[in-house]
Amino acid sequence: MEQTNDSRLMPVLFIGHGSPMNAVEENEFSRGWMEIAGTLPRPEAILCISAHWETNGTFVTAMERPKTIHDFGGFPERLYEVSYPAPGKPELAKEITGMIRSVPVGRDYSWGLDHGCWSVLTRMYPEAVIPVVQLSLDRSKPAQFHYDLAKELYPLRKNGILIIGSGNMVHNLRLIAWDRMDDPAFGYDWTIEAGMKMKQLILSGDHRNLIDYQSQGKAFGLSIPTPEHYLPLLYALALQEEGEKTFFFNDQPSMGSLMMTSVKIG
Ligand code: ZN
Repeated sequence: MEQTNDSRLMPVLFIGHGSPMNAVEENEFSRGWMEIAGTLPRPEAILCISAHWETNGTFVTAMERPKTIHDFGGFPERLYEVSYPAPGKPELAKEITGMIRSVPVGRDYSWGLDHGCWSVLTRMYPEAVIPVVQLSLDRSKPAQFHYDLAKELYPLRKNGILIIGSGNMVHNLRLIAWDRMDDPAFGYDWTIEAGMKMKQLILSGDHRNLIDYQSQGKAFGLSIPTPEHYLPLLYALALQEEGEKTFFFNDQPSMGSLMMTSVKIG
């Protein structure tokens, strides 16, 4: 593999996680997650910012043994049987609470690993031995807040911590194309349009307009009806160094109203 300019700097990922079934199905998305893991230096630990952990205030999981949370309904039994028994890392949680100066960060002992985190990690690192902590999304705060907060996490990249934002850049569950399930790569025109524009903005380093997603027109409006699946992308982009390269993978729509496009930075 090609080396980054600064080989001490851990790459950052944004992963489109899509359906929880990707955790147990052999498909191109789960294969893409497996393959990208093979391109990374082995992380000391993983910090995951998942769309599925929204809180009032900002929290980091600080337990020794985070539980696997099955935070979804109506899926086959085998998905509820998945366990991802990776250890936590209380000392990393403590370090993060000290590293983030702009707001107080609480240490959490009740959450665990939600499916935004474990559905991806069970394919990337199936042995579940690398410690994992999660950082929550403060639901009361605007996009700029999240982007700025993410920048404070930058030193972790120098310490071998893999930071993963897990969501979907286009995510509208109310408009899933149930009548087009025979075509696994079907996307509405607006799904494709928003995905293309987001990729162009990422490639040109235009984070300003990505933060200002509510002013980007109708396709963005349909793609981001609520912000929680989009914000993890901003966490990843905020950690990009000036001029650092980006690589897209799993770059296709799913179920009409989702984009699975994922980004490796560095
Ligand atoms: Zn999700």
